[in-house]
Amino acid sequence: MQYRADLHIHSKYSIATSKHADLENYYSWARIKGIRIIGTGDFTHHGWLGEIKEKLEPAGNGFFRLKEKPVTEALTLFKPAPLDVLFCLTSEISSVFKRDGRTYRVHSLIFAPDLETVSRIRKKLEIIGNIGSDGRPILRLDTKDLLEIVRDASPDAYLIPAHIWTPWYSVFGSKSGFNSMNECFADLTDEIFALETGLSSDPGMNRMWSDLDRFTLVSNSDAHSPNKLGREVNLFSTDLGYEAMFSALKTKDGFNGTYEYFPEKGKYHLDGHRKCGVCLTPEETDKHKGRCPVCGKPLTIGVMHRVADCADRKKPLKPSGPDGYRYIMPLDELLSTVADCGAGTKTVQVLLVKLIRLYGDELTTVLDIPAERISKDAGEDIAGALVKLRRGDISLSPGFDGQFGTVKMGTGEHLK
Ligand SMILES: [Zn+2]
Ligand SMILES: [Zn+2]
Repeated sequence: MQYRADLHIHSKYSIATSKHADLENYYSWARIKGIRIIGTGDFTHHGWLGEIKEKLEPAGNGFFRLKEKPVTEALTLFKPAPLDVLFCLTSEISSVFKRDGRTYRVHSLIFAPDLETVSRIRKKLEIIGNIGSDGRPILRLDTKDLLEIVRDASPDAYLIPAHIWTPWYSVFGSKSGFNSMNECFADLTDEIFALETGLSSDPGMNRMWSDLDRFTLVSNSDAHSPNKLGREVNLFSTDLGYEAMFSALKTKDGFNGTYEYFPEKGKYHLDGHRKCGVCLTPEETDKHKGRCPVCGKPLTIGVMHRVADCADRKKPLKPSGPDGYRYIMPLDELLSTVADCGAGTKTVQVLLVKLIRLYGDELTTVLDIPAERISKDAGEDIAGALVKLRRGDISLSPGFDGQFGTVKMGTGEHLK
């Protein structure tokens, strides 16, 4: 069967998350967005694990489901289509460690098939550091040693390096990462079969580097709040189950690619100086020898530049099949460009509720409902904007040096 999965989320026990980040609200928003499988996030945290044990039950296929269907404000408001949302046991670890005098900071997603495995992993991590203060614990633990702990806990437990290009917290990060997978994982590199591209890069950018060819590229929301689910998702067509899903990630057979947010929207996509109003491509930065043409100081280097430095192919590829992807954006953001007011305004929210009630969920609305039908139900402007998004007829001002990128509908073609 075909289904969507978002496997990187955080609970209310992680720092800087919403107080609504609980199992009931994640379930509700998974239905509103149209996502069948979501991560639990944060299984290392005792408080959150307690809620997982109390409120979820095994679904018999390595996933879990809520024992009782909740009645939440979000469900009452949006009335999404029925969907049997399942949870996959996931967590994220922030490793901070030294090798040969250099400090590395790497985030990793870890996955477990059952609660016994979770308990074995937690026992090991507990000895290393404090896993009780943050849902995403920071541990003085080499990423390679973490992989060993995960692998030893169960043959069906896995590690996927998270948002691999983030400058400060990732395996290839320019500030605190490595220059290759081998450098990080050495003789255990073969145990890794998938990489998370993160919000600031898309598969096309990653496929510029042939070193990554063998890895499946996954995308998740890294949601800190339930309504941010599905900013990026993975598509599968497999039997519904933990084993089948990971077998698809290992073999690419049954993995149908991802839905991606525009990487240009990220705060550190290109290079630049926010203060000086300077935004440069990697080539332009190299021409200026890495210095700002206005103030002369070193530029803040973005994700695209880091990818270009590692890459051995010239241009982003737009692959198909398991490497394929489509661009999406949150529907409230798209509606806000049409209504010309903020995504949080009443006008936009009323439109959003109307569309979800009509078509069952957000991702189906954004990608699949025929334009003529949307035009009839909700007006030509909304239908027109969705057609432009689906065609990639978008113009983007890329983010740089901490400034978010912006999207306008029409007048451009993305990455062409
Ligand atoms: Zn992270
Ligand atoms: Zn400057």
